[in-house]
Amino acid sequence: MRICVLGAGSIGSLFGALLARADNEVVLIGREEHVRAINERGLRIVGAEDFTVYPEALTYAPEEEPDLIILATKSYSTSHALDCAARCIGRRTWILSIQNGLGNEDLVLKHTKNVLGGITTNGAMMVDWGTVRWTGKGITTIGLYPKGTHGFVEKVADTFGEAGIETYVTDNIIGWKWAKVIVNSVINPIGTLLEVKNGFILEDDYLQGIAVEIAREGCITAQQYGVEFEVHPLELLWSTLEKTRDNYNSMLQDIRKGKKTEIDYINGKIVEYAESIGLKAPMNALLWALIKARERKINKAE
Ligand code: NAP
Repeated sequence: MRICVLGAGSIGSLFGALLARADNEVVLIGREEHVRAINERGLRIVGAEDFTVYPEALTYAPEEEPDLIILATKSYSTSHALDCAARCIGRRTWILSIQNGLGNEDLVLKHTKNVLGGITTNGAMMVDWGTVRWTGKGITTIGLYPKGTHGFVEKVADTFGEAGIETYVTDNIIGWKWAKVIVNSVINPIGTLLEVKNGFILEDDYLQGIAVEIAREGCITAQQYGVEFEVHPLELLWSTLEKTRDNYNSMLQDIRKGKKTEIDYINGKIVEYAESIGLKAPMNALLWALIKARERKINKAE
């Protein structure tokens, strides 16, 4: 399969490397320093597995249309990245978002009807230009966006599976996307504001009560939009906290690196969706505002 990774950073480079190792024709679209390092020394994966591959790497979209574009920018970069890649989005090209947050697939729909949604529990972190640490193997769930079935989804799942990316197909990816956002709407801002590992939330009765209230707002909003869950977000929240007990969440890592967070696409989107149908999501609104203030505090310190 000819595959472009749009936003070859941590997770995009990991997927690209695994797919390249399995003899797919992979083009990575990323930032200059990373692209230069890959072109000079190859793309090295360390951690859960250790190998180097030599895929094509560019700072711009190629002219030739791929079968699949894996969208792996942070959510705040999606719109601009898609505009930059517009010339390679052909009539037969499918775009799969493996990003966190809500709204990415809706932006893709402005460019093509061939949209797949995805979530992944694989963990990846850039350690140096050209080198990515696979911090933990996980599972990937993909489906036709917002719902339904299509033969191409199975084809992508088979291609991913052959590349060592454990992948499941769902006919309800929108439900999984919302469930993951609800989980992240609890873990990310709480862990970031308190600067604690995920497990801390499980050990504190007050935080557990707050967690339930935050998640409840997301669940009520989702249900008003007709979203159905295969696994209840609260069940997913407790199991995620248990499995990631010793991890610092990605939002805290972004703040520590002085980077912008994805809060607008997590708690921010829950608030926007709630308010647009006359509901309120005050817990999410508070966390959204506090994280925005935290981002501003970093910028002021610089
Ligand atoms: P990341 O390391 O920041 O990677 C995104 C990369 O895309 C960055 O290098 C970024 O460069 C680049 N980029 C942005 N716009 C671009 C453009 N127009 N052209 C070329 N490159 C562009 O982020 P990540 O951790 O991989 O996360 C990506 C998404 O996957 C997020 O939604 C995240 O929540 C989700 N996710 C991540 C993981 C993980 O373990 N990392 C796991 C599951 C889900 P700049 O930084 O210069 O903008």
